[in-house]
Amino acid sequence: MGEFPAGGQPTSQSALPGRRSLLLAAAGLAVAGLAACASESDTRTPARPAPVPSQVISSPAVEPAGHHQATPETRLSPPSKSQILAEFSARKPVEWGLGVTGVVTKTASPHAVLTFDACGGPHGADCDQRLLKTLRKLNVPATLFVNGRWIKANPGLAAELAADPLFELGNHGFRHQPLSVSARSAYGIPGTVNAGEVYDEIMGNQDAMTQLTGEPPRFFRPGTAYYDDVAAAITRALGLIPVNFTVNGDGGATFPAATVAAEVAKIGVGQGAGQIVISHFNQPAGGTAEGYARVLPGLLDRGVTFTRLGDALPL
Ligand SMILES: [Zn+2]
Repeated sequence: MGEFPAGGQPTSQSALPGRRSLLLAAAGLAVAGLAACASESDTRTPARPAPVPSQVISSPAVEPAGHHQATPETRLSPPSKSQILAEFSARKPVEWGLGVTGVVTKTASPHAVLTFDACGGPHGADCDQRLLKTLRKLNVPATLFVNGRWIKANPGLAAELAADPLFELGNHGFRHQPLSVSARSAYGIPGTVNAGEVYDEIMGNQDAMTQLTGEPPRFFRPGTAYYDDVAAAITRALGLIPVNFTVNGDGGATFPAATVAAEVAKIGVGQGAGQIVISHFNQPAGGTAEGYARVLPGLLDRGVTFTRLGDALPL
């Protein structure tokens, strides 16, 4: 939880009380069993063509020259915490937000990318069974950003999602904190306070996910999706690509279904090329699943194609 009450841009703190009320109300209704969420993989049909991996490497606009690249070498042996501290402790951030320098917000792929976060925590450890069922039925791939707390609450489900070729798992942080080297916060959620905590927030979950899936995730999105530019650079130094979005599909799982459908429908312009949509798959009492069930068939009929981040941003 903690992402974007409305719209694709940061919202004011004043939006928080209403959003929290919605989330608390949703949490009271979120009684669906977690185990059932893991049993839907047989329902997909081959009615839709399989996603076609993009042959286009990310554009200069989204991967500026000079940024640290996630080479196989760095992915196999990321810098140690002491190396990160030595390189970054003295650096002062100059940007704070969703699209700071170094963060990928769109791709050069002709396809659209759907991303769904699972944030964990007291009101965020559930699973939206209906949403995953819709994706599987329509054969629409997605990248799922999972937090360490969510994995701890759902180890079997996390392993099943990791094994499903329709999905790709990304790192959504260890404690679900805004990624700051100077104790910034977002939506009232305290961020990490220095480069060492940034390292811990990324690598705590990275290590757990690597054990879970057998390979390190390539993509990172922090809790609340807020970074500063130094934290984004640390993410890249650790071999991960910091990612955000072009379309806010569900407003932190607060949008009603009609709003979700209307927001996600925006990727139909340009047939989805390069778009990255953010939504959530941990709030089954929200409008996210119904919104996607309404909007995806029409987008597919219009020729919009979907792929996972790893295919839209190849190594
Ligand atoms: Zn989250």
